[in-house]
Amino acid sequence: MNKSALQKAYSTEDFKKRGHQLIDELANHIGQVCNESPGNVLHWVSPNTSLNFWEEFLKNGDSEQLFHEVLKRSTHVHHPKYLGHQICPPAPITVLTAMISAVLNNGTAVYEMGMVTNPIERIITALLAAKIGYQEQSSGFLTSGGTLANLTALLSARKAKVLSDVWHEGHSKPLGIMVSEEAHYCVERAAKIMGLGERGIIKIPVKSDFSMDTALLEKYYSDAIQNGIEVFAIVGSAPSTATGIFDDLDSVGIFAEKYDLWYHVDAAHGGAALFSKKYRYTLNGISKSDSVVIDGHKMMMMPGITTALVYKDARTSNATFRQKADYLLEDSTESDWYNSGKRTFECTKNMMSLHWFSLLKTYGEEVFEAFVTTLYDKGISFGEIIEKNQRFELAIKPMSNIVCFRYVDVSLNLNTLNKINAAIRQQLLEDGEFYIVQTKLRGIQYLRCTVMNPFTTETHFKDLLEQIEMKLETILALKP
Ligand SMILES: *Cc1c(COP(=O)(O)O)cnc(C)c1O
Repeated sequence: MNKSALQKAYSTEDFKKRGHQLIDELANHIGQVCNESPGNVLHWVSPNTSLNFWEEFLKNGDSEQLFHEVLKRSTHVHHPKYLGHQICPPAPITVLTAMISAVLNNGTAVYEMGMVTNPIERIITALLAAKIGYQEQSSGFLTSGGTLANLTALLSARKAKVLSDVWHEGHSKPLGIMVSEEAHYCVERAAKIMGLGERGIIKIPVKSDFSMDTALLEKYYSDAIQNGIEVFAIVGSAPSTATGIFDDLDSVGIFAEKYDLWYHVDAAHGGAALFSKKYRYTLNGISKSDSVVIDGHKMMMMPGITTALVYKDARTSNATFRQKADYLLEDSTESDWYNSGKRTFECTKNMMSLHWFSLLKTYGEEVFEAFVTTLYDKGISFGEIIEKNQRFELAIKPMSNIVCFRYVDVSLNLNTLNKINAAIRQQLLEDGEFYIVQTKLRGIQYLRCTVMNPFTTETHFKDLLEQIEMKLETILALKP
């Protein structure tokens, strides 16, 4: 019995048949949702309804229908009315590279299990390093997501800057990092994983434009030092996730240099602008950093998850997970570059460098430039459309493809307005025609859109505002 189950599971005939069907269905799916009159972005059901469906499907569903059901019941990032989280519609070629990676399953950690992917990673990260403005001794690798990459960078930072050998001996003294209060929550999570505790996360308030208030850095730093905290790193956001606003990377870099802090730039979202002539300025000062994180699955047209972590000095990356503290003396920048598992958090990882390389080889760097520039342009023009509409207010003029706004009415108080804006977003979600998200900034509830699809047009933006105005009529009639 086992034998026949195994034979079935490895049948290449089945693979071909279902594979061909699936490719056709996926191509139709992408074609359809990218089309002018597509259906919904999503079909919202409650968590328990979905759970019941899949429990029932496992018992009685038709396995031939499995892929179809998955497609139908998921949220469609290729849809031009998808304006939600920062996940891109992957370019179809990267769907194919995901498939090769799945078949070959080369785990990449050691050279012979990544004879293709390790060299390719080196090529890709060297390209990114050059764009950042790093010199020859730089290096990098790919890893599973911005969250893990930020943690890894902070571990490198601690190894490089903290006086004692924490990796070997554990903490002997309170340590701290400085970061904008608007930074992605994963930075705080990383710091907590590292045992820094609440005190070790020195949150710098933002200015009215939501960028880190760099005028406060000196004060927050000296307060921390007086409280006995050894500050070893500072993190700049490019941009911060909620607002899409960039920290002044140059000023942060100057400050980091003055106090010999590790300077990490979380450019998970905005790092792609390294390729954009028009928007490269958003990253001015990034070359002062010691490490940079860039997500491939956000603004670089790849499927999740793949993140580049690039270091100014290869030796600091090599040392992250090593026992010895005297690495700087004995190590070369070339040491073991082809065994990437020595530098990554994960052991097995998928062959993610294939996505980057196939896009680069097939379409050239211009494709990255076109994607990020188009999306930022669209975010900014959506901001202009909102500005012209009296019923809506921007949280801040967008600098990128992230746009936060809300319905306003001066006769209503904040609490009521927050409820109305939350209700708008809930109704949109349950409707499923558009997908947008929400965020709270300084206690104010905003609708939050990220333009992730280069085929989203001004008509879609206007359509969304009209939809919201229609929903408002019912919401306001209920007297919230
Ligand atoms: C998305 C994001 C992250 C988290 O990255 P994942 O790849 O989702 O783990 C971290 N920082 C910023 C600024 C982000 O936008």
